[in-house]
Amino acid sequence: EEQEQEYRAYLEKEKHVKAVTLCFSDLEGRFHMLDYDKKFLLASADNLTFDGSSIRGFTSQHESDLRLQVDWTSFLWLPADLFGAGKVMLFANVLNRSGGQYESDFRGLLQQYLRELDRQEGLTAYVSAEVEGIVVEGSNAEQRFDENTGFQMISRGGYFHSLPRDPLRQFIDTAAGVQRAMGFKNEKDHPEVAPSQFEMNFSYTHALRTADLIQLYKLICRQVANTLGMTATFLPKPVMGINGSGMHTNISLAKHGKNIFYDRDGEEYLSTQARDFIARILNHAQEMCLVLNTSVNAYRRLDPHFEAPNQIQVSPIDRGSMIRIPVGNEKTARIEVRSVAPDANPYLLLYTLLQTGLNGDPLSGQHEGSEHVRLLPGTIQEAIEYFEGSHLMRRVLGETNVEKYLSYKQMAADRSPRALGTQIKTSEIIYH
Ligand code: GLU
Ligand code: MG
Ligand code: MG
Repeated sequence: EEQEQEYRAYLEKEKHVKAVTLCFSDLEGRFHMLDYDKKFLLASADNLTFDGSSIRGFTSQHESDLRLQVDWTSFLWLPADLFGAGKVMLFANVLNRSGGQYESDFRGLLQQYLRELDRQEGLTAYVSAEVEGIVVEGSNAEQRFDENTGFQMISRGGYFHSLPRDPLRQFIDTAAGVQRAMGFKNEKDHPEVAPSQFEMNFSYTHALRTADLIQLYKLICRQVANTLGMTATFLPKPVMGINGSGMHTNISLAKHGKNIFYDRDGEEYLSTQARDFIARILNHAQEMCLVLNTSVNAYRRLDPHFEAPNQIQVSPIDRGSMIRIPVGNEKTARIEVRSVAPDANPYLLLYTLLQTGLNGDPLSGQHEGSEHVRLLPGTIQEAIEYFEGSHLMRRVLGETNVEKYLSYKQMAADRSPRALGTQIKTSEIIYH
């Protein structure tokens, strides 16, 4: 590709680049980064191997070698004050030994699927994610966690309220500044409802780019919080009794540049295509819940009293429904999936939502305003059972991935205390 050549040439010429950070995500969405010397990377870009058996959810020891394939168009400068001078970043896809797409790398799988949609149907998926998180005192918050008092919040915050010298405002301003510098095209940044909670909204753009930006968003927040002596966590429910953190996922589809979720004459201005997409997601909501809510902790968040819906229905207004239809015009018409937690693997998430919305079975019954509203699973164990029994998930994600994913989730379920108390595992905050 032309663009690829351009970025390569730029990297070659640019004297200030010392190291190139390649990053990829494992099956559960953990972000991995490794630094290459610039000259070495340019010389051996076609043969970058790594040991897949040291990555959870990737290969087992007897088939350990995997390859990284640089996505040159994802080129980014890393801000020197956070990451050190002279570093650029590139996302990579994971290939198997023989150079084919590796079956558990959902960035690559998502990219493939999006290309297929474009080629076969002229469809482009647009996504934006509203990633919420909570900031707590101390860059070593894990050690400071107190059995009785929990985490120390940095601010009493509140939606839109916050004084200029408020530590939460300071965190948000710094993190949003870094995001702007890195091309996120932020739209608004604000404290959220719970104390010490934040949300920074960035551009509505192509699905793959949004998934990359979600990973970067979390990285930046953690990094910025650390420099301020705080910890940013994307744990869905760090404190019982107050709002948890969600990752509302807004989706629309365009065909040859036109938003096909919009219909001037449709109910709520939604097209039949959009209605069908919603119907398929609602119909399979229980089966794919484990992909949207991947941790034990995520199930503590799903409570409509805290704006985190567990009701399998669609509504234009009610924030207790898992899908909301925000007011929109031709440009902005979209659906908002609200029952997603911020510790989900964004690539696996978007892959699953798109595949289900386009290829699932539409539901038979009526989900809007019906008397018996079905509910999402209340615990990870329940979600595991739905996921395990799902033909659609096996077809869409592949047997191997389903089995691997199930085994990790079962381990998590077995580790968690049966009773849903206020206690959380402090080690959970490190990765998510
Ligand atoms: N924090 C809420 C959640 O857990 C969402 C609040 C909102 O932005 O509506 O999903
Ligand atoms: Mg919000
Ligand atoms: Mg929202």
